This record gives sequence, structure tokens and C-alpha cells, in this order.
Amino acid sequence: MKRTWLTVDFDDLRHVPSAQGHPTRSTKPVEHKGLSQAYKIGLEQFEAWLESNHHPVTLFVIGDLLADETFQHWLSRVLTAYGGRLTVGCHGMTHRSWSAWPEDVDGFSKALAEATALLKDACGANFRPWFRAPAGYVAPWMAGVLAKHGYRVDTSVNPSWLVKKKAGKGNSWADVNAAMASSKVVERAWFTRFSLPVNGPALTLFPLSIVAKGAWKRAPPVLVANEVVNAVEDDGVDLITLYWHVLDHSKNNGKWQPPLAQNQPTA
Ligand SMILES: [Zn+2]
Repeated sequence: MKRTWLTVDFDDLRHVPSAQGHPTRSTKPVEHKGLSQAYKIGLEQFEAWLESNHHPVTLFVIGDLLADETFQHWLSRVLTAYGGRLTVGCHGMTHRSWSAWPEDVDGFSKALAEATALLKDACGANFRPWFRAPAGYVAPWMAGVLAKHGYRVDTSVNPSWLVKKKAGKGNSWADVNAAMASSKVVERAWFTRFSLPVNGPALTLFPLSIVAKGAWKRAPPVLVANEVVNAVEDDGVDLITLYWHVLDHSKNNGKWQPPLAQNQPTA
């Protein structure tokens, strides 16, 4: 039976491609003065959501957030309170859109090493060598770098024609999948419906949001906590991957919730 893996990306407003990290999209820089107000609300409401259910979740955290004391304290508190069902993966060091730039093995390798060391230090046993490319910008050349740094899972591919440019110049999603497979990195592509994105921004962008909400409501049973690590790392296990942003929790006056069915089916 198919199962669902829940994941959350930890971008603040200053991280996203419109603000930084992309050669052409980054036209509206955001001043970095600690966590944004929306982000603080997002963290608080995400924690309230955790409190309201028993689902395990993987947090994809950006390395440079760990320089912020408020974030550090928040992370260490939720890992203490909910650590039995939380895992933490890497969402880059600065949220740079790697595949939108020319191939840069050394730059990516250095940033990945730095982010990995910080995350291991902050999260201990909750850290997993799982990677999500910032804004889904992943190219085949990144697979070997991930493997070299001990990464076992990549969850960056959004297998929709709408975003195929993100595989990097001249590449297809099939090329990314093949590169991951030959580097022995398990690819956990994002769930799509009718070949349309249903994750992240698609949750709030009309009309994609209609398709997305329908897909989430019908999602198969969410994994239970003690299954997560083995299931995610074993490509023989049939999973769908869902993701939202911690910033989503600041929407609707802090009332936003991931649109899973209230009575989520049990396995
Ligand atoms: Zn992101």
C-alpha cells in the first residue's frame, strides 16, 4: 500500500529566489535583520499543528538559519518536545538555486559540507543525510556531490513539465533521476497530479491550489514515526512526498493548516 511522507521547508522571506540566489529571478532583495515577523508566526503555528496530531514530519532546514539564536532555540525546543517523530534534512546553506547557475561542483560541495556540519551539530540523531534542493533547482551534476557527502536521499525533483527548466540547461528530470540512481542516492520526487505541481507554492496559487488541495485530501496514510527512516531510504517502498513551507502557517492570520483529510486514513 502506498504511504505518504510529510516534509516542511524552512525558508524565510530573505531566502526565496525573488530575494536572492538566482541569476535572473532575484530582483527584490530582503534585508536580513533576524527572523521575519511572518516567519516567527509560522514557527509558532507549525508547533501548534505538531501539538494537534501525531504525524511524523521531516524538516528541511537551511544552514544559515542556525546562526540565528531565536531559530536555534526554537529548533532545539521542538526536537526535545517532539523528537521521536521529527527528522531533519538539509535545504542548502543559503538557499542558492544551484541548477540555475553554471555547474559548480566545488561551490556546492563546500556549501553542503558547511550546512551538513551545522545541522549535525544542532540536531544530533535527528539529522538524516537527506537533501532538498532550494526552490527545486537540482541538476544531474549535483548527484555525485551529494553521494560524496554521505547523502542517501534527494527529494528535489518536481516531475512536472511546468518546471522542467529547473533541471538545469539542456537537462530533463529523467537525467536527474539517472544521475541520482548511478550515485546510489534515492530520489523521492514530489507528488504531482495530472502532471501538475501540488506542493509548496501550488498549495496557494490559484488555480493549481484546487488540484493541490484535492490531491492532499486523498493522500494515502501518512507513515508512522518508527517507519520513516527505513521507508524513506528504501526505494522499494512506494511513497508519495508532500511538502509545505513553515511560512504557510503565517497565512490566514495564522490559521493556515496543511490540507490533509481530517480523518487521515490509517495503514
Ligand atoms: Zn526552499
